[in-house]
Amino acid sequence: MTLSPIDGHTQLVGLIGWPVEHSLSPAMHNAAFDALGLNWCYVPLPVPPGQVEAAVRGLGALGFRGANVTVPHKQAVMPVLGSIGPSARALGAANTLVIGRRADQPPRVGGFNTDDKGFVGALRQGGFEPEDGGDTVVVGAGGAARAVVFGLLWSGTGQIVVLNRTLERAQRLVSDLGSRLERADRLRALPLTTETLVESTRAADLLVNATAVGLWPRVDGSVWPDGVPLPPHLTVFDLVYNPLETRLLRQARRSGARAIDGLGMLVRQGALAFDMWTNQGLEVGEIATLMRAACEQALGSG
Ligand code: NAP
Repeated sequence: MTLSPIDGHTQLVGLIGWPVEHSLSPAMHNAAFDALGLNWCYVPLPVPPGQVEAAVRGLGALGFRGANVTVPHKQAVMPVLGSIGPSARALGAANTLVIGRRADQPPRVGGFNTDDKGFVGALRQGGFEPEDGGDTVVVGAGGAARAVVFGLLWSGTGQIVVLNRTLERAQRLVSDLGSRLERADRLRALPLTTETLVESTRAADLLVNATAVGLWPRVDGSVWPDGVPLPPHLTVFDLVYNPLETRLLRQARRSGARAIDGLGMLVRQGALAFDMWTNQGLEVGEIATLMRAACEQALGSG
């Protein structure tokens, strides 16, 4: 990678989070800027809890063009925004800020969420068409699971069962998104147990792991029980991307099921943000491909 020199024309974007040092976002965005010959730079911006408002106002004052927002600030950033996109509003969380400027006016910060479209784009690229109406089991009920359920509901999927270790959280997700999108009849919340998981998955077309189970360094974890084959007609999408090949995806492949890793979602949500900032008119898939190569290299599998 040969980064362009930083000079007086360099456009700045960055990542607000706490912590941010292990993020793949600087590597993937800077690789795409470099490949496309854009004089832009993406920097990690560690922002302690309680400092989000000051940080966002600071971005505007410093001339930043935008930022990504990650844990734990995706919700906290909402009250600071001048405008809010539909996905961010429905999810109550923004992962992308776009900073607009007009002469003699203070910078205006728009907040968007690209996780839902990132997920659906990666799902399609993996060969699963959500509009075919298949049923889905989503394991997990945190911020990522919300984006997954929202994206699936918008794409016209069938029934969605949300399983979570803490049942109340799954019930809240189902009731929030069900009433907001008027699709409560398509959603159900259940406690996560081996029995509920295996039973619900038997009738499903898609299984999504939206928990942290299997994430490095606890790479031996899997939400799916040992010794029970996954249905071979199933598509299994693991949001975890470190490691790329999780234990759940190995179980899926061994059972003859289709396996999709979490990196596709990460790079697509990034490519959508990249497109909003730079407005180069490129295919999101093209940007995502550039980003994926940089991430694979950073993860040591490229
Ligand atoms: P979060 O809001 O903290 O939610 C974590 C979820 O994992 C909750 O449902 C939690 O259940 C569940 N969980 C954690 N440990 C568990 C365990 N040992 N057994 C069962 N369930 C467990 O986090 P998030 O932002 O939604 O992220 C969830 C996962 O998605 C993470 O692995 C993250 O890296 C990944 N992710 C990937 C992408 C991507 O682009 N590929 C984007 C966002 C997130 P409780 O509610 O019971 O605690």
